[in-house]
Amino acid sequence: MPAARSNRDRILQISRWLAVTFPTPYPTTVRCVKKIAAPPGVKGVERRIGCQGETYQDGRKIIIRIAVRRGIPRMSTVDTLLHEWAHALLADQEQEAIGGHDVAWGKAFGKIYHRYIDDGGYKASEDY
Ligand SMILES: [Zn+2]
Repeated sequence: MPAARSNRDRILQISRWLAVTFPTPYPTTVRCVKKIAAPPGVKGVERRIGCQGETYQDGRKIIIRIAVRRGIPRMSTVDTLLHEWAHALLADQEQEAIGGHDVAWGKAFGKIYHRYIDDGGYKASEDY
């Protein structure tokens, strides 16, 4: 399969690889958006730039939103996707709203990151 041309295509391609390699407890949909508003209370530059990603649960569905636009490097959007996928993996375990970075999240993120960066995921995902 030819290399994904746009950052959006690459994010969706990696999402398909993640869905097979790290299945989430509920179906996960990844959406690429131009901007994700910063949470209330965030000021200054971060307010203007917004967040790069967010994960939320809607009943038995998980939605991940990733900011993809000019000026955000591809690797940064990929990092954000891997980060958010770790949240999605823990959707049935996290007591509060998805969003904490506790030890369980850190382990999930570590597994995903290792697989993608050091264990062939970068290449393998190009076939999805
Ligand atoms: Zn997070």
